[in-house]
Amino acid sequence: KGSNGKYTVTLIPGDGIGPEISEAVKDIYSAAGVPIQWEEVSVTPILKGGKTVIPDSAIESVKRNTVALKGPLATPIGKGHVSLNLTLRRTFNLFANVRPCISIAGFKTPYDDVNTVLIRENTEGEYSGIEHEVVNGVVQSIKLITWEASERVARYAFYYAQSQGRNRVTAVHKANIMKMSDGMFLSACREVSKDFPGIQYDEDLLDRVCLQIVQNPKPYADRVMVMPNLYGDILSDMCAGLIGGLGLTPSGNIGRDASIFEAVHGSAPDIAGKGLANPTALLLSSLMMLRHMNLDEHAAKIEKAALTTIAEGKAITGDLGGKASTGEYTKAIIQKL
Ligand code: NAD
Repeated sequence: KGSNGKYTVTLIPGDGIGPEISEAVKDIYSAAGVPIQWEEVSVTPILKGGKTVIPDSAIESVKRNTVALKGPLATPIGKGHVSLNLTLRRTFNLFANVRPCISIAGFKTPYDDVNTVLIRENTEGEYSGIEHEVVNGVVQSIKLITWEASERVARYAFYYAQSQGRNRVTAVHKANIMKMSDGMFLSACREVSKDFPGIQYDEDLLDRVCLQIVQNPKPYADRVMVMPNLYGDILSDMCAGLIGGLGLTPSGNIGRDASIFEAVHGSAPDIAGKGLANPTALLLSSLMMLRHMNLDEHAAKIEKAALTTIAEGKAITGDLGGKASTGEYTKAIIQKL
């Protein structure tokens, strides 16, 4: 917090629709009087020693402020770039990916009672990237699970449940088959659960959860589900589908050295620069950030304005079935503040 009473937060506008939706969030924040000043940085890769890397100034900014809001980054495929998202994840040790899936009142989907939060281990598991060819035609991929990373994400899941008033944590797994790796993940969760006697703890199989939640999401309401990397990647997108798709889904990457909040969707090159983008996912991600910073009142005020605007349906963007531009939707939210 600076001498002017404002918190400095790093803003990475990102590529494609990134700058347009970031502009919308900035406009809403100034109208709402949120005590935040943005430090805008570019993460466009530069060449350093023959490798493409993120500019040091961007890394330094996130390190200094420890909180960042990030627009989508386009990942060029097969051009020798490392994924920038992966670089950020590794640089700041972003160990937990938090994905709330909560029905948006007024936006019609098959269910109106989805209310769950998924927390995905973000650093290891099936995505460790350790693969090799044993002999021609035989490939091995290693799923690496450590006690340290499992315990760390489990602890965050319980802490999150406690601080957000959710009374149950469910560990999602396939320990019936992967007895050692998922088995240890479960042991870590059980161990941590002892430190949170006020929160119920249980375990459920991934396939069972998939089947049940698409048939009836209600029993999964009010809880937090924690799981290894791959399961979280798939289950969280499935749950995003239950609430109306990626345009509405926020996320937070919680790290040891910093936390970065971002929309789940990509840079949407097909609609970039046309004023058609829906800024809701980035806006909701920024509200997770405000709650992470204990600025809950500001978050609640903006959330109410945005959700009322969507529920009224008069000024919503094309992806939600409306005709409004990004700017018109933003203005409608600002009028409701
Ligand atoms: P995408 O999410 O960018 O787009 C998928 C579809 O959804 C498109 O039709 C797009 O117009 C629409 N869409 C997405 N966000 C929208 C919004 N806010 N408002 C309205 N419509 C929206 O996925 P993609 O096309 O597969 O990926 C494009 C680029 O984004 C790729 O380079 C990819 O690597 C990158 N990407 C980045 C992130 C990230 O930075 N976290 C995540 C996913 C994809």
